[in-house]
Amino acid sequence: MIPAKLISKKRDGEFLSKDELNTFFNGYLANTVTDAQMSAMLMAIYFNGMNDEEIFSLVEVMLFSGSRIEFSDSKKYIADKHSTGGVGDKVSIILAPIMAAAGINIPMIAGRGLGFTGGTIDKLESIPGFNTSADVHLFKKWVNKGGYAIISQSDQICTADKRIYALRSKTGTVPSIPLICGSIMSKKIAEGISGLVLDIKVGNGTFMKTKKQAIELGTWMKKIGKSFNIKTDIVYTNMNQPLGRYGGLSCEIEESIKCLKGNGPKDLMNVVLTLGTKMLIQAGLAKNESEANKIQTKIINSGEGLALFKSATKMQGGILDKFNSQKKPKYENLIFVNNEGIIQSMDTESIGWALVKLDCVMHNKNNNLDYTAGIEFLKKVGEEVKNSEPVFRVFGSNKKKLNSITKKLQSAIELGKNYKKISLIL
Ligand code: URA
Repeated sequence: MIPAKLISKKRDGEFLSKDELNTFFNGYLANTVTDAQMSAMLMAIYFNGMNDEEIFSLVEVMLFSGSRIEFSDSKKYIADKHSTGGVGDKVSIILAPIMAAAGINIPMIAGRGLGFTGGTIDKLESIPGFNTSADVHLFKKWVNKGGYAIISQSDQICTADKRIYALRSKTGTVPSIPLICGSIMSKKIAEGISGLVLDIKVGNGTFMKTKKQAIELGTWMKKIGKSFNIKTDIVYTNMNQPLGRYGGLSCEIEESIKCLKGNGPKDLMNVVLTLGTKMLIQAGLAKNESEANKIQTKIINSGEGLALFKSATKMQGGILDKFNSQKKPKYENLIFVNNEGIIQSMDTESIGWALVKLDCVMHNKNNNLDYTAGIEFLKKVGEEVKNSEPVFRVFGSNKKKLNSITKKLQSAIELGKNYKKISLIL
């Protein structure tokens, strides 16, 4: 195989056969295709898309790049939730223990920060000792024992996604329907699940900016899920402002703990409960929305969800006492806008890039993550800003970086006179 020939074919709008995709992608894993060549291929796919056959081939090639877990010996309903990515989206960290407490087993393979969106794995790794790279055997043991576990793609499972995901994040090739399908669905099929609830984000803080694009992605994911015998439910949620009150790493773990204690922000909890409802009904554990809400509220109010989060964290090596003593940031700035009014909109992608600047996402070879860094969203869409009130609180361990995002954040806010309500579930 001559990689440049296949790249040129895709660049010129031709279709690649399953064999060609197999050869190219496996060549990448065998290091006979370079990062530069894979980046060029990803960009060609980004611009030219893929037909039905290519998308299914891509999912299979990515799936079979690693092992596939089997849960046929389990009596539990095995399911998962995955989001297409957003800013402040910590839903997985809250939902997994709630679902596990309800009796569903969740083997979650998640990702790191992608482009301008935060990653579940990076957030969990802000807990000292938290091991996200267990082998398949240990992962399965954790899930069977603790009800849920969350690991990253590895050299053993979803190997192609592990490498391509990191490359897409650094090369501006994330917002592509075929590539998102390949990435998410290869992970979910590899988990050996029977059911899946997908949170497809729509808006200025995610990769699908319009409902039309999001529906196209959702339709694809459902089709792929069906062909692999996975019951797939889709929820479209609004990402035109950050979710919850915090974006960053350890601050999002702290906010998740607050949610599990019953003190979570309304918008975030609304998304958690909506996705949880879909999963409980899918699993046959609730007949309808009201029953599903009751189950989840009881799990939160009784402290069962929090207890499960703590035990699963411990099982994965995480030391919460150490987390509590290390999470405090060194510096913080308050950010003001020189005006009064009601927030009409937030440029959420821009806020996401500000978080990348603070090292909440890996964006080049050498940057280390700053687990203490993040942004508190003191005001959100529909809320009033009076003259002397700050809009954001930014924090982290690098003062220069904190100062550098002030203007970006100030211009991410649009003020006006009208009260604005945004609907969360679309
Ligand atoms: N989440 C993933 O795992 N992959 C994507 O491509 C986007 C979001």
